[in-house]
Amino acid sequence: MSRYKDEQCRICRREGQKLFLKGSRCYSDKCSVTRRNYAPGQHGQGKKKLSEYGTQLREKQKTKSFYGVGEKQFRKYFKMSESKKGITGENLLQILESRLDNVVYRAGFGVSRAQARQLVNHGHFDVNGVKTDIPSYLVKAGDVITVREIKKDSKTLKENIEANAKRPVPEWLEKNSEKAEVKVIRLASREDVDLPVEEHLIVELYSK
Ligand code: SF4
Repeated sequence: MSRYKDEQCRICRREGQKLFLKGSRCYSDKCSVTRRNYAPGQHGQGKKKLSEYGTQLREKQKTKSFYGVGEKQFRKYFKMSESKKGITGENLLQILESRLDNVVYRAGFGVSRAQARQLVNHGHFDVNGVKTDIPSYLVKAGDVITVREIKKDSKTLKENIEANAKRPVPEWLEKNSEKAEVKVIRLASREDVDLPVEEHLIVELYSK
């Protein structure tokens, strides 16, 4: 996926809502959605009514942006969610939540999913005692994610752990800030996902 670097705010503005892609800036007055809540570009301030297809497409794009996932991988997750028991849209969200970079973000070890992905890429974490540097690794119930011993002095991680020590983690995770670890108690259910996503629109889009 071609990722925006300093342009994440444009993605939020295009979706017309905060997607929390930039860490602390997202909670400040500097947030671009707070300052300029209209789509970027020359015609951004004009109101455009979306077709049914357009609405479904935007929902998919927004969800991909939330989790920082490219089209190919997103489709793969959709196929996986179709083959699982249960409701396809809810399965899809569960798979996205199970990504290691998302778990690291949810645990407060990263200020954004993008930063969490970078920390995973740079080998900051063990899963069940084994170094795991693949952000798309899908966690399972019982997995324990730990900051690797040699990375415990990382300034970024220390700051994040301290700043987020009191931030609640989702009920499906159990965090131990002192040990710098998080345990997956169970996989996320639909109720655990606090993002404004209408997953049925994505299912409708891919079912055409
Ligand atoms: Fe989105 Fe965060 Fe930028 Fe606000 S500051 S527009 S929430 S990425």
